[in-house]
Amino acid sequence: MLRFVQEADASRSVTRRVDDKEIPDAVPVGEYPVRRVHRGTCTEMKRQGFCIARETGSVQSVDADTGIAHPGNLVEVGDMVEMAMGKDDLCDRVPVSLEGSGENPCIHQDMTDDVGVAEEATAWNPPDRHGRIIRFSHPMSVMPSLIHECLAGLPELVEDVARKEGISPRIAARSVARGRLVIPANPNRHHRTCGIGEGCRVKVNVNVGTSGPLCDLALEEAKARAALENGADTLMDLSTGGDLRAIRRMLLSLDVPVGTVPVYEAVRRAGSAADVDADLLFSVIREHCRDGVDFLTLHCGVNRDVLSALRTDPRIMPVVSRGGAFHVAMMVQRDEENPLYEEFDYLLEILSEYGVVASLGDGMRPGCLQDAERHAKTVEYLTLGRLAGRALEAGVQRMIEGPGHVPLPQVPCNVQAIKELSNGAPLYLLGPIVTDLAPGYDHVVSAIGGAVAAMQGADFLCMVSPSEHLALPNVDDIVEGTRVARIAAHIGDISRHREGYRAARELQMAEARQKLDWNAMFSLALFGDHARRIHERDGESETCSMCGDLCAVKLVREIFRRKGE
Ligand code: SF4
Repeated sequence: MLRFVQEADASRSVTRRVDDKEIPDAVPVGEYPVRRVHRGTCTEMKRQGFCIARETGSVQSVDADTGIAHPGNLVEVGDMVEMAMGKDDLCDRVPVSLEGSGENPCIHQDMTDDVGVAEEATAWNPPDRHGRIIRFSHPMSVMPSLIHECLAGLPELVEDVARKEGISPRIAARSVARGRLVIPANPNRHHRTCGIGEGCRVKVNVNVGTSGPLCDLALEEAKARAALENGADTLMDLSTGGDLRAIRRMLLSLDVPVGTVPVYEAVRRAGSAADVDADLLFSVIREHCRDGVDFLTLHCGVNRDVLSALRTDPRIMPVVSRGGAFHVAMMVQRDEENPLYEEFDYLLEILSEYGVVASLGDGMRPGCLQDAERHAKTVEYLTLGRLAGRALEAGVQRMIEGPGHVPLPQVPCNVQAIKELSNGAPLYLLGPIVTDLAPGYDHVVSAIGGAVAAMQGADFLCMVSPSEHLALPNVDDIVEGTRVARIAAHIGDISRHREGYRAARELQMAEARQKLDWNAMFSLALFGDHARRIHERDGESETCSMCGDLCAVKLVREIFRRKGE
């Protein structure tokens, strides 16, 4: 988007700030090939009423008198479309914006309100007689992404995150601009802010959601609330059963950033992964963005190269990521490239339009220790690194997911490899599961891996519950898993910020223990109520029931006191 503004400026030899409203008449922004043509009835067009162009490269016919757009297209794939931005005195009521980036600008009416179509009849110039030129007739309000805002100044959102994290706002803004810190905050919703990445404490995500046979909205809400009460920073909805939109909207009503995996819903709607096509997938992605989802797991790295690596260097468990499996099924059955990879620019446009963070999914994460170092994962890492660079260039915030089941000694090099390949993009970890032999305790297993990974630079840990690999988690599983993940994140924090307040809190705990000050210990503990319950179950006393009257702390303290030391 910034580039379009700069090009428009260059074409007139004027310098102008992004937020300058003095935009000249019909400045050509560029000529672009039509990449996709939106066919059939477009509910988006109907809702927006007077949009001229909605989908990428899709130029719709517009009634000159009413301003109503019709679903019939005036262009075909391969046609060139000249995008223009400008103003017209006739129009003063319709806020419009130019959004999008790369080669796929998207021009549409501001989505903040539904203005009556009749009032706007004169607001639009229809495409020219060839149907090839779109001219907007209103001062453009250019809406920069958070990355662009950080390049130009200090957005309030960044200041808020910096305040919470105890870091300099300017450094936080620089980290956002460099793609090393993301702030999932869809402008369509308001919730507490959460920074993930450089300079921030390690965050914890908790997955909730239904599965095919188990669909209970009340249970999912109870799980989500339990997660938040026990330290979750974000929630992800992995629902695949029941009323998916109702579950998503329930989660979106909570005061927390929410992520989803749109391909799950696309598969449910299509009936099978093989029946999901690009249009359906992009339409679900857009719907999630419009609903207010803050970050989306998108398996863009599962491409033909990865598939080929999977075949030439087979693994014991070829694919264990559900989203990864869906994309493999789509690609193999339809003999097509993954649309999220093939049309990555278009995907970025949608994310940019809604200010949503891309979480580049690890569809090839290994499912057992023996598969940890096979080619498929490495090829996916390389792909994700490249895509992360393109996203940043387009002003789209993104993070990288990884790395699945990995032996503990390989955790540091996996973290460093992803960080290196993505130029320090925030790293969102599922696991790492560092042994496959502890089902029922995988929350502990992944906390061990997560703590080591966080120490090495991972930024965001996904809670693994005790029921991982066994069943859909219940509320107790979520509580236990969240607490253990929170502990792993804290260990990561104190490993990385030795001089920070977290280390000070560790010192205070040591002093409270030396004083046998139980109340101070419980207030400093990450989960003080739990600690208090255990301590008090054998009755209250100055020491604890572990050593009783032979308490080492008390014994040495009193000896030193008697000696005047
Ligand atoms: S009784 Fe034993 S375990 Fe308990 S505080 Fe004293 S030394 Fe520690």
